[in-house]
Amino acid sequence: MRLWDLLCPPTCIHCGKDVYTQGEWCDTCLRAVMHERCIMGPKYSSLECIYILTDYVGGMKTMLHDIKFNGKKERALGAAPFLQRFTVTCLDMNYIPTIVVPIPISDSKRKQRGYNQVDMLFKDWVNQQNWKWIDLLVKLDGSKPMWTLTKEERRKNMKGHFLVRSDMVNAYADKDISILLVDDIYTTGATLLEAADTIHTVLPRAKIKALTLASGA
Ligand SMILES: [Zn+2]
Repeated sequence: MRLWDLLCPPTCIHCGKDVYTQGEWCDTCLRAVMHERCIMGPKYSSLECIYILTDYVGGMKTMLHDIKFNGKKERALGAAPFLQRFTVTCLDMNYIPTIVVPIPISDSKRKQRGYNQVDMLFKDWVNQQNWKWIDLLVKLDGSKPMWTLTKEERRKNMKGHFLVRSDMVNAYADKDISILLVDDIYTTGATLLEAADTIHTVLPRAKIKALTLASGA
């Protein structure tokens, strides 16, 4: 046992019950949120389907809230058991994305929070799978100086819109690649749809799926 664990014994991320390692869930709290499923993207959209791993309740709600609003990025460790389980699902489906693309937050939010929670939750796991993580999208918040943008970007320089960093996709332009978008919470699906549609405009042959840790829908 490490010194830190002696001084500060690991407890369940939600209920405080003793567990073996820091960031772990007790069985009861884990089972209360675990709910792996797949929903189809809307007809005629660029999004094939959305994998969802848990319900946005109990410990999952506390965990994501702590990461996003209380600066506790270390709590992202709590995503591990659900992602490990999803690794098995991917193996079963023989699914290997060509690239993984995180849903970005705006620059102003990143300055305020210090990090994108999506990176904290998924990046280590994606690296462990030897999958390629690419920050392909930029989220605009209307605060970008217009003179830094192209004509098309100016049109879209509004709150909530995405831009594709086209310099990064040239290599994939005419290829049948598969893209996995990752985000923390699924609610209406509007964010994922907009991200998928934006990518589709520059990579029309890409098959796009999404993965979210939780669903609040
Ligand atoms: Zn617990």
